[in-house]
Amino acid sequence: MAFFFKTCDNWTAMYFSTDSTVFLDGNWIHASEANVTLYSQTLHYGFGVFDGMRSYKNADGCNIFKAREHFARLSDSCRQLGIQLSYTPEELVEIAYQLLTKNHLYTAYIRPLVFLGPNMELNSESSVHVFMAAWPWKKYLGYEPINIMVSQYQKQGDNHSSINAKIVGNYAPAILATNQARKLGYDEALLLDENGCIAEGPAANFFYEKDDILYTPTTRCALPGITRKTIFDLAAQWDIPVVEKDITVEEAYKADYAFFTGTASEITPIGSINGERMKKSWEDSHAYSLYMMYRQQVMYDEFQGLTIV
Ligand code: PMP
Repeated sequence: MAFFFKTCDNWTAMYFSTDSTVFLDGNWIHASEANVTLYSQTLHYGFGVFDGMRSYKNADGCNIFKAREHFARLSDSCRQLGIQLSYTPEELVEIAYQLLTKNHLYTAYIRPLVFLGPNMELNSESSVHVFMAAWPWKKYLGYEPINIMVSQYQKQGDNHSSINAKIVGNYAPAILATNQARKLGYDEALLLDENGCIAEGPAANFFYEKDDILYTPTTRCALPGITRKTIFDLAAQWDIPVVEKDITVEEAYKADYAFFTGTASEITPIGSINGERMKKSWEDSHAYSLYMMYRQQVMYDEFQGLTIV
């Protein structure tokens, strides 16, 4: 299958080709025929939810890493917004594997989106639609250590909208923060919470390591990321303590090393924060060893039985 790659004026071509198939409301259709009404409540007010997961090629076919956890989170995001999702996480896992098979994909990114139909009022009495697409997507933010800046844009607190749900409308500040960082010559932004402590990246959790201990913000201000949890599990295997706490920017400046975690960015080394360089090199950090373990782990998990060939 010939996938097109992004040029400055053609983002859509990156996500599907002429023979890509997507899932929409129980049907398998050509990506180019998948449409959404311009009166969609999700389009106007951001009231909808999504998730993102990766599949990795392995000797048996491929594995969607922690697929069930991702669809359980999607389901929970819907529940938090009062959106009736008519598929169980298990059914969605099955659909995701079918999606890969239909598109002859093994190593891919999978994006489920639950969006609402026409309704210009501020109530959620509209039809619920389920969309799922997959495309080959290289590691977001790349492999090299990135330079990040503390953003002026804040992470919304739990009193704005549910922080542990992936709500479409929550991502406007994240886009503003990334835009600002890139404009100022940085690779990515770091968002603070309403108390001025580090929350997370625009779409990734933040960790730093100091004296052989890993520190990460609490889920009061950060999404309980599935990659974040994987780091907890991998660190436990190596007896590396992980502490969840409020983290100031000054504290992070003194880190031995720092990194982002997320499905799209996997584990991304952070070389500097606001120009303050990390004390260790990426290769000497625990984060590097954890990343090597992560790369092995993603190829198989408890859903081996559902791998495609
Ligand atoms: N924070 C935010 C705001 C995100 O959108 C993501 C990506 N889902 C993450 C953290 C990382 O979560 P995960 O590891 O589950 O992809």
